[in-house]
Amino acid sequence: MGARLAIGACAGEAYRYDGDMTASLPLARLAGFATLLLATASASASIPPPPGAAELAQRGEDIAWAITEDLTTEIGPRMAGTESEAAARRWAVARLQAMGFANVREEQFDMPVWVRGDEQAWLTSPFLPQKLAITALGTSASTGPKGIEGDIAYFESFDALVAAPEHLVKGKIVFIDHQMAPAQDGSGYGAYGRGRFVGANIAAKKGAIATVIRAIGTDDHRNPHTGGTNFEAGVKPIPAGAISNPDADQLVRQWKRAQQMRKTETALGYVAEPLRMKLVLTPQNLGTKHSGNVIAEVPGSDPAASPVIIACHLDSWDLGTGAIDDAAGCGIVTAAAKHVMSAGQPRRTIRILWAGAEEVGVFGGKAYFEKHGTEKHAVALESDFGADRVWRIDFKLPDSAKGLADRLAAAVAPFGVVRGKQPANGGADIGALVQAGVPAVDLAQDGTRYFDIHHTPDDTLDKIDPAQLRQNVVVWSAVLAILADSEESELP
Ligand code: ZN
Ligand code: ZN
Repeated sequence: MGARLAIGACAGEAYRYDGDMTASLPLARLAGFATLLLATASASASIPPPPGAAELAQRGEDIAWAITEDLTTEIGPRMAGTESEAAARRWAVARLQAMGFANVREEQFDMPVWVRGDEQAWLTSPFLPQKLAITALGTSASTGPKGIEGDIAYFESFDALVAAPEHLVKGKIVFIDHQMAPAQDGSGYGAYGRGRFVGANIAAKKGAIATVIRAIGTDDHRNPHTGGTNFEAGVKPIPAGAISNPDADQLVRQWKRAQQMRKTETALGYVAEPLRMKLVLTPQNLGTKHSGNVIAEVPGSDPAASPVIIACHLDSWDLGTGAIDDAAGCGIVTAAAKHVMSAGQPRRTIRILWAGAEEVGVFGGKAYFEKHGTEKHAVALESDFGADRVWRIDFKLPDSAKGLADRLAAAVAPFGVVRGKQPANGGADIGALVQAGVPAVDLAQDGTRYFDIHHTPDDTLDKIDPAQLRQNVVVWSAVLAILADSEESELP
């Protein structure tokens, strides 16, 4: 196993050393080369090492693409708790078994299921009615088929809504505006995402009849971005939707003009014409249903060693086919595990987790933690940020792993990956593990265009760049090979 360790630690070098050198040699010379190799087998320094996982990832079949294409083509949208997600699990079990992984299984759990219904919206007054492109947010209440109409209470930001007195919100349709800008590290999601994550909850507590947000997206298409919103216990859910960026721009222009239109004069000035919206959202709660995690393993040679866990999520939103979110992630982690397995048995077991029901509340990640949280895990990694290239590696490792982190950073540097200064934070499905102290490594992907497509009907296979997808697999393979062979003294 020593030879594998050496290759894993310098995968880039191994590739350049072996490369295509032999491919261009005539067959006769190649045979002679092989004889020479056999003759000098005892002098191990002169034997070209067998290909490492990263090298295997650079050539031959593109496993990540195949998984992403097949899953999005044969199953398509995979909304949590639905028959489509169950079909995806059956598909996943069959595919992972066919790839030669061990202990392939489904671990079921129950969860509340929400499904989309009709979704329409109009600005109705003070101008002529205009239709908006809207989508409901996960857990939104229904307006009923006849819909609701109300005055819009405009807030330029999530913080403005939080600060607003109740009388400005009560009985109104709250609109939350914001300007999310693209960022390579996707850092706008946390700040601007709050309007989606909990905006409806805050508005509901202040008596709003519905909430509409400017979609959490960086594109200029009329594709609203869906996503989950969360109502805390005891708060009655209200209808909650997101409108596309161009529709939000239109709403804001009408709002500004309506503000100048005098409805009634008062001693203090005037009351402006209200901007009114009609909303028809008819999602349904279907009650408790089954979902599940799909798990597969590459068994390690040392059964006492703690496993490396690599995760993605199998479910997707229903508007697109869930290609970048997160079929590609499942393709990336699984391709890397396959390459490590093909390069030779690693010391540690690699456990692949295709989590269920991530989008609607990380139910799969929680179920995994409930079942396996007390087991030892060496380190956890997740791929759930699209299919564009990995540009940074971050660590959250014990002090004993300083040398390991240096080897990992050196191994990915040839592929254009820099070492970050901030600690790794894992990902949603491994979040509970990392919070409980399991070490983590993040392979941060370029998120510059991620939020153009995220959670929209545009999340389809054609948005994936095969070259960048393969770079992910090469980097993951290099990292996974090293982690799976890491010493007990490094990751207990
Ligand atoms: Zn995701
Ligand atoms: Zn998502």
